[in-house]
Amino acid sequence: MNKTWVIGHKNPDTDSIISAIVYAKKINATPARAGEINQETKFALKKFSVEEPVLKERIEKDEKVVIVDTNNKEELIPINGEIVEIIDHHRLCGNLETPAPIKVTIKPVGSTSTIIAEMFLNELTKEEAGLLLCGILSDTVIFRSPTTTELDKEIAKKLAKIAGIEDIEAFGKELKSKACVLSEDPKENVLRDFKIIEAGRKRFGIAQLELMDYESVMNKKSEYLAAMEEIKKENNLDYVLLMVTNILEEATKLLIAGENPEEIAKAFEKKMEEERCIYLEGVLSRKKQVVPVLQRFFA
Ligand code: MG
Ligand code: MG
Ligand code: MG
Repeated sequence: MNKTWVIGHKNPDTDSIISAIVYAKKINATPARAGEINQETKFALKKFSVEEPVLKERIEKDEKVVIVDTNNKEELIPINGEIVEIIDHHRLCGNLETPAPIKVTIKPVGSTSTIIAEMFLNELTKEEAGLLLCGILSDTVIFRSPTTTELDKEIAKKLAKIAGIEDIEAFGKELKSKACVLSEDPKENVLRDFKIIEAGRKRFGIAQLELMDYESVMNKKSEYLAAMEEIKKENNLDYVLLMVTNILEEATKLLIAGENPEEIAKAFEKKMEEERCIYLEGVLSRKKQVVPVLQRFFA
């Protein structure tokens, strides 16, 4: 039998790693990762004594693969083998092809972990439930993100019960605090959670750091802007935006590298708060609150 892998997107986040691990276990496949594991995910894996999945650089011709937490080819490692299933919670991208019909599960919920938890709710071990809870808490920013649905909250409660976690909020904060540990290198931090999108004729790189303050980035603002400018050139982009998201305040300071920062301020109907920075109250989600604004404005 050909080997079946389960893998999520490059620049893996907690949801993509955990979805791959738990789903692989349930279908007797092998989980893989498409990049380095971040500190938050490391904490989750350690907490429930689960090993890091193996690093995979491509899916070979004779291999099969289940894709989780994305359906965008651009976010995946090269796939020469056969895609057999997709499980995701992002908009349908439409750039993946399969030779035969496959099972596709895409739901408008806060995380892929939610979908996988719902599939196997009655057959989860304590560890699996704990891991999936981490996936939900990470992606929904402890239910604060507007991507959060009632189903996410409901499933999280059930998972917490199975995993023996009493205070979901406190556990979520402990988890998210690991994501706030920044490296000394601004460029590395910007690329940690970085997505390229198109809006009209413009190409954007949008990075997000989920923090419990702004200062850890804003105190080095010019270094960050320089790193963003470099990334912009390397990737042939019109703009690189950095969402400095304060999850406690539930707001984002958006740093802007690119020719005309005023144009970005205008898209969000904001005034420049300080040089190359606008303040976006209530904004936590790149997918729901930043990308659509740009796509509408630049359409
Ligand atoms: Mg993800
Ligand atoms: Mg996700
Ligand atoms: Mg995310």
